[in-house]
Amino acid sequence: MPQRYADIVLPLAQPAYTFAVPDGMTVAAGQAVAVQFGPRKFYTGIVWQVHDRRPDFKRIKPIHKILYDRPLLSEEQRALWDWIASYYLCSIGEVMRCALPNLIKPSGDTEEELLQDEYRPRTECYVSLAPELHDAARLDEVFKQLTRRAPKQYEALLEIAAGGDTGPEAHNVDENVAATAKNSIATGEIARRLLRADTTVLHTLARKGFIRETEHLRTTERGGARFRLPELTPHQTEALEQLRTQYAAGKQTALLHGITGSGKTEIYIHLIAETLAREGDVLLLVPEIALTAQLIARMERIFGSRVTAYHSKLTPQRRTETYLQLNRSEGGEFVVGARSAIFLPLRRLQLVIVDEEHDPSYKQAEPAPRYNGRDCAVMMTRIFGCRTLLGSATPSLETWLNAHTEKYANAELTERYGTARLPRIIISDTLRAARRGERKGRFNKILLDKIEAALARGEQAMLFQNRRGFSPYVTCTECGWTARCPHCNVTLTYHRNGDRLVCHYCGHTEGVPAKCPSCKVTEVVPMGFGTEQIEQEIAALFPEARVARLDRDNATSQRVFQNIIADFESRRTDILVGTQMITKGFDFDGVSVVGILNADNLLNNPDFRAAERAFQLMMQVAGRAGRRDDGGEVVIQTAEPGHPVIRQVAENDYEGMVRMQLADREAFFYPPYARLTSLTLRHRDPVLLRRAAAELADRLRTRFGRRVLGPMAPPVDRIRDEYLVGLLLKVENGASAQRAREILTDELRRFTENPDFKNITLITDVDPL
Ligand code: ADP
Ligand code: ZN
Ligand code: ZN
Repeated sequence: MPQRYADIVLPLAQPAYTFAVPDGMTVAAGQAVAVQFGPRKFYTGIVWQVHDRRPDFKRIKPIHKILYDRPLLSEEQRALWDWIASYYLCSIGEVMRCALPNLIKPSGDTEEELLQDEYRPRTECYVSLAPELHDAARLDEVFKQLTRRAPKQYEALLEIAAGGDTGPEAHNVDENVAATAKNSIATGEIARRLLRADTTVLHTLARKGFIRETEHLRTTERGGARFRLPELTPHQTEALEQLRTQYAAGKQTALLHGITGSGKTEIYIHLIAETLAREGDVLLLVPEIALTAQLIARMERIFGSRVTAYHSKLTPQRRTETYLQLNRSEGGEFVVGARSAIFLPLRRLQLVIVDEEHDPSYKQAEPAPRYNGRDCAVMMTRIFGCRTLLGSATPSLETWLNAHTEKYANAELTERYGTARLPRIIISDTLRAARRGERKGRFNKILLDKIEAALARGEQAMLFQNRRGFSPYVTCTECGWTARCPHCNVTLTYHRNGDRLVCHYCGHTEGVPAKCPSCKVTEVVPMGFGTEQIEQEIAALFPEARVARLDRDNATSQRVFQNIIADFESRRTDILVGTQMITKGFDFDGVSVVGILNADNLLNNPDFRAAERAFQLMMQVAGRAGRRDDGGEVVIQTAEPGHPVIRQVAENDYEGMVRMQLADREAFFYPPYARLTSLTLRHRDPVLLRRAAAELADRLRTRFGRRVLGPMAPPVDRIRDEYLVGLLLKVENGASAQRAREILTDELRRFTENPDFKNITLITDVDPL
């Protein structure tokens, strides 16, 4: 036997390294192994390729041992990693660092330290109706007996007999519900976690012999026939049929463009059920899992314990467990996850759904790989042979264009479900209101009137402002001095809570000066406003109302966050003030007024996507209002009521927005008509940095010509005492993206290998947002 070698990927910003396969060891691609790398350290690596080509370095270390009883990565997963590394211009080791949960890939100074955490499968408590009660007459007797004396037990038993799906109305003890439950008695097991009923109540029922409780491995119910699917409306059925037909005709990716509340999720549910019934795996991606507890609960009501949540807020232990558990699965898995869920081992992946596909949080900003989960999901159709569905009320221009040039299949939902109407959108001119004396604090009178009326009807209001803190800056009215961060080139935000100035880039804080430090004449005053100020003003204007705020400053943990949401949901608070955090994924039935306090700072962003983003954000915020029959009302405060995007929002004119923006993008060669790669250079010495950027720009111009823009200063050109300079590469559609990547890789390698520039940090961002 010739000596065998294996190229192994390590969790370092490096390409794969070659190790020797010891005699008697058989390794296969995708397997995890322990190897020694560097003078002492042990790492977990992934076998990428086994071959018999001896590398030309002298000391080739052997593989230490094989970890886990089966490969951690399938061939398709490896292909995905390879694609990400090459497309996003990073090393395969960086992909590994991000793709695998930490505990799965231990490292250490000795072999013992590396020893893997033993994976123990999780067990869970299941309950089922006692066999004697499978008889309708007997069950009826028990219900009668409980309904008067023990309503809690009655409700719990009802829930179990109905298979855990009695809806909120079960809280009212209702004979009709009981009758329905009795008509089809659910006899199977149901995970206790999925029941509303209290554990102590269930114990009592078990003691009385009405139910059985068992503890066993977490199982998934098999057989799709048991899912209770919502019945679709004719419009929804038509959209679903269109998707099915176009998929069957060979389209791999589809757009489901449906306004908020039109039932996109109901269509997802049908496609998910079909796939699970075939024992296929499903991945449902959501922009931020922290905000989607409601969606998970909704999916669990239908798909029970098949639903697996996966995101960065889970403990490392839990993420590792989930990975290994899925790795053993035979198919029929349903994962609801944030973007990193694309890395899970779903061997029979057949359907990937990307909900709110336009959302910027699908893009990983830091660290590399700076991938976009939505775009990976589209690529996965080629690698896994799966289908991808992109859903949105306001699709990204990229996706819209692909759907309308027939690269993607396309289906639309243009009506809200049931009697719910679209919210009425009122544009309110802040300058005019101020002139007429119809403005109190940061509020135009019309918004205050709407809030007052809503509160009087016992309804709720939401107020959106995309800045946190009290004021984005403080200034001296005498000499114009403004407080700035000593480490970053930005103004300091005033936080009344704690009475401090805070840098939102580096976290630097300082006290508010008593007198202007520059002219020493007057006090400094806060300018502009953030959520803190809105909260304070609205509380003063409506002293009876219970006001809460939700932003990154006060939602310090998952718990606090959930509590604020739960309080608003159950109407323990009346007015919720917040940033982007309040815009996503919540359905609050009680909300009839939504205020957007300052649309202008959404629009006046220097980014080429500002108009598109502002439109999407405003539509999303507006969507929080119209969940009710009368549609609710949205008040948008702006100094530019004639701005085209404001008009498009008011007229619900998505198409108009798209056509206007696409024309601009085409004229100026921006996505979707060109591909962008941004390069950011960072260093403490601005002189060296400028020289490096100029040299890199020159080199790139020799290869790419006028496709190179810069060097230029980004909007914030100093962060944490480091200066930043940017370059932008624009490659028009039609030019070979592959070739451009090769040239760029080559030039960037040359740059990083230049000893003059070796301490300069270079950040490469492909398709930046
Ligand atoms: P979207 O995902 O497009 O915002 P949803 O699927 O969340 O819309 O639907 C909005 C609301 O309407 C939800 O409360 C949902 O339960 C209800 N709904 C939509 N379609 C149906 C249907 N066919 N049957 C019953 N309820 C529906
Ligand atoms: Zn001054
Ligand atoms: Zn700072």
